[in-house]
Amino acid sequence: MKRIYMDHAATTPMAPEVIEAMTKAFVEIFGNASSLHQPGLAARAALEEARERVAGLIGAKAEEVYFTSGGTESDNLAIRGAALANRDRGRHIITTSIEHPAVLEPCRKLEEEEGFEVTYLPVTREGLVEVEALEAAIREDTILISIMHANNEIGTIQPIAEAGEVARSRGIVFHTDAVQTVGKIPAKVDDLGVDLLSISSHKLHGPKGVGALYIRKGTAIKPIVFGGGHERGMRSGTENVPGIVGLAAAAELAGRNLEEEMARISGMRDRLADYVLERVEDTWVNGSRTKRLPNNLNLGFSYIEGEALLLRLDAKGIAVSTGSACSSKKTVASHVLTAIGLRPQEAHGSLRITLGRENTDEEVDRVGEAIVSVAESLRAMSPFRKA
Ligand code: PLP
Repeated sequence: MKRIYMDHAATTPMAPEVIEAMTKAFVEIFGNASSLHQPGLAARAALEEARERVAGLIGAKAEEVYFTSGGTESDNLAIRGAALANRDRGRHIITTSIEHPAVLEPCRKLEEEEGFEVTYLPVTREGLVEVEALEAAIREDTILISIMHANNEIGTIQPIAEAGEVARSRGIVFHTDAVQTVGKIPAKVDDLGVDLLSISSHKLHGPKGVGALYIRKGTAIKPIVFGGGHERGMRSGTENVPGIVGLAAAAELAGRNLEEEMARISGMRDRLADYVLERVEDTWVNGSRTKRLPNNLNLGFSYIEGEALLLRLDAKGIAVSTGSACSSKKTVASHVLTAIGLRPQEAHGSLRITLGRENTDEEVDRVGEAIVSVAESLRAMSPFRKA
């Protein structure tokens, strides 16, 4: 039985081109990019070429890209680094109630330990932040706004360009967590109007443990990791050259046929949604159907536990998710699904299917059939189902 992987929001398989570029880097570019001899210079050259490529995907200048250990570190650097650099101007931060823990937790730490106040904006039933609510939340002492580009659970794409205009007109540093969007939809820093943008390599068919933070030139931000002054003092630590080369190869590939892939993947996603919604009663789509990542489908099922669905599908060789991977071991309802107004039992009946580059039409057919048959059999056993 060939396994089907449809959990690309959790992580993606590395592209063959990425593996090839990294293998070459592991073998040939082993030098320390800070060393002055030839192996060091070769590593430095690979690093700077990679920086150019990553910058290209987001429409930035190479010197505005800083490599990190991944999305979590990029978010921490953006939030904590900007907060600490701007604390003399104020201690108020605005974010949203549906951010990834990599944003929410550094915000909580700043509240608990550094005397900051954080406003967590609510979202609509579709999972959208309202720009009017953002404007209303801004105070004299607001120094940072952080709104994710698209949500990792329900795929909702936020009005970042509009929020960016608001932030810019008030002189407030603006961060977006673009971990789920870079390489999946256009995410150019000037179109979005952001000062800071987080990237994670493993979400776009690159290796795990590598990422980047875009920092617009002139943005007030302080490092949070100290040491030998790598990445122009913004992030100390010997650069992971093979990982960074892998991220750059992944960025280049993703940028090459972004529009075609968006159309192909959203077509498969919509077909899958329609197939299940037509055949299984009391089923709905969580999040917006239009302002949504092309690869994300989050289905809600009454009278069924999402975990049970996931495990039955796994037994059939199909990998999907019930929420974000980081929270899938907890039994609490997803904070994103409760933020869009689902009751805990509704939130527990959700299934996140995130398609990707290697998925095919035949796989979509198999997954659709499997979901319908598993949902029917679980419903037949459910003590909660309608009489
Ligand atoms: N932000 C979002 C929206 C994510 O989906 C994730 C990963 O799930 C992260 C941040 C963390 O990225 P990383 O796994 O590279 O630390």
